[in-house]
Amino acid sequence: MITDYTRLINKKHPLPADYIPRDLVDIGLPFTCAPSDPRRLLEKKAAHKAMELITRAGQEGISLYCISGYRSYARQKELYRHDSYVAAPGMSEHQSGLALDLSCPAVNMELVEAFSDTPEGIWLARHAPLYGFILRYPANKESITEYPYEPWHIRYVSCQLSTYLAKTGMVLEEYYAISKKIAL
Ligand SMILES: [Zn+2]
Repeated sequence: MITDYTRLINKKHPLPADYIPRDLVDIGLPFTCAPSDPRRLLEKKAAHKAMELITRAGQEGISLYCISGYRSYARQKELYRHDSYVAAPGMSEHQSGLALDLSCPAVNMELVEAFSDTPEGIWLARHAPLYGFILRYPANKESITEYPYEPWHIRYVSCQLSTYLAKTGMVLEEYYAISKKIAL
């Protein structure tokens, strides 16, 4: 069943301009941005699962911080106007409220590939699927996702699907292609 949680969002399957997730919440995740910043918002279920993930990380001495969650269509449009490297409006998963960028002090809270070599990046790649998240843009799948490797970007897809994708090594595009739900 295709739900909003498992929805494929990419350059070929953008979200409509008026798509706004139902329950956007700020539950006090450890964001680096200011308290009123809209980037702190996430879809309710995704927010609670992210809290579980980050709490478990903390218990294991892993310091994950949230950099960016929800991004509205209008905000994405603004970013795209200034930097065409970022996803075009409608094509960013952040508009779904299900995507979250994480970083850690070892890489100065930056969204850089070096994050993947930190204890935080390694821990995140291993544990995210246990909480319903996937690393959405893995290395060596760039030609399929049409995104460069982003070890910091996780996407909530439900535990059922994240477990399946982790076991098979598939990205969301491949899952949809074999399910005959789309043509790649
Ligand atoms: Zn991201």
